[in-house]
Amino acid sequence: MKQCRNCEAIIPDDAKLCPHCREAQKHGERLPQVFLVGVSVATAAAVLLESCPGILPG
Ligand SMILES: [Zn+2]
Repeated sequence: MKQCRNCEAIIPDDAKLCPHCREAQKHGERLPQVFLVGVSVATAAAVLLESCPGILPG
């Protein structure tokens, strides 16, 4: 369950429209996943750089 971002009524997670005010609901779950993938890629890149110190100057 989630809250309508317009009228704050409790509506089902998969509702695309609020049944109360018919405000379109955006899916907010996609952004955190993209963020997690970005963090994973950044971590992998950091590990690769640390395992090959010759790449970095100095
Ligand atoms: Zn609503």
